[in-house]
Amino acid sequence: MKPSPFHYHRPATVEEAVRLLAELRAGGADAKVLAGGQSLVPLMSMRLAAPGHLVDINHLPGLDRVEVTAGEVRVGALARHRTVERDDAAYAACPLLRRALVHVAHPAIRNRGTTVGSIVHADPAGEMTAVLAVLGGRLELVSTSGTRQVAAETLFTGPMTTTVRTDELAVAALFPVPPAGTGSAFVELARRSGDYALCGVAALVTVDADLAVTGARLGLISVGPMPVVVDLAPAVHGSGGGIDVAAVRALVDAAVEPDADIHASAEYRRHLAGVLSERAVGAALEDALRRRRGRSAA
Ligand SMILES: Cc1cc2nc3c(=O)[nH]c(=O)nc-3n(C[C@H](O)[C@H](O)[C@H](O)COP(=O)(O)OP(=O)(O)OC[C@H]3O[C@@H](n4cnc5c(N)ncnc54)[C@H](O)[C@@H]3O)c2cc1C
Repeated sequence: MKPSPFHYHRPATVEEAVRLLAELRAGGADAKVLAGGQSLVPLMSMRLAAPGHLVDINHLPGLDRVEVTAGEVRVGALARHRTVERDDAAYAACPLLRRALVHVAHPAIRNRGTTVGSIVHADPAGEMTAVLAVLGGRLELVSTSGTRQVAAETLFTGPMTTTVRTDELAVAALFPVPPAGTGSAFVELARRSGDYALCGVAALVTVDADLAVTGARLGLISVGPMPVVVDLAPAVHGSGGGIDVAAVRALVDAAVEPDADIHASAEYRRHLAGVLSERAVGAALEDALRRRRGRSAA
């Protein structure tokens, strides 16, 4: 199938793009930002989406950068998944980015799709939504009224819905660098490599200089309408201890609300959430211990 007819706009600056989005919104037009097109174009081709206007942001300058500061990794709206995945400075600061991105679709799609686009798209199976959520990251939005940042916890409101307004352009995603002694892991199960995951888990585990666990968090995908963040503090043993795996499973079980679909039953996804959470926590803990002992692994 071919998309319904639409008007194509190609602004040259961020200012021009947001002015256009504001005018289209004021006129009641149904407009969509076009980034990598890896989700929007298939939806349009299947006529599951039929926006009257596309605002192509691919020619806006300065949005394709990945920048690392002491406190965060800033991923511009035109940084492709593959660019972020391969950025060594971003990996050094926040290894979870690469560990999650290798699970996103296939390399050809990662070459074109943007990390910011996948966050705004807010697919409940999108890996990077959970990464932003578990790290406590933010999205930076620009409109004619100015710039605002939205925390992941108030960004996602349901399947493919966010608090981003139709006159706003997301210009960057900001991923906080986790504290020293933090290990990470991303594990998922998909029917075929590159498919959307039946369930996926991002894990962060922090250990102190005595190798005792001081905190742990999970971000899960495909087990609810939006990424599910689970604080594992109740499963962390007191001083000198590790993590109580049975308590992790109980916390995850209480937090997830999986639905059945043609790919898996709700019960199977719930089972996966427990199994994959246990694996992710184990891998993140090992990573944290390695880091404290001065060795890191890819
Ligand atoms: C076969 C296939 C498999 C895939 N598998 C996975 C997978 O396993 N995991 C995964 O996470 N993704 C997967 N994807 C989707 C892929 O990651 C997309 O790249 C991503 O979801 C959207 O990024 P994009 O840049 O292509 O956005 P687009 O398709 O251009 O846009 C997606 C949506 O976000 C909005 N948008 C995009 N950028 C902005 C912005 N800067 N400001 C405001 N709104 C914006 C658009 O208006 C649109 O509504 C898959 C895609 C395909 C085709």
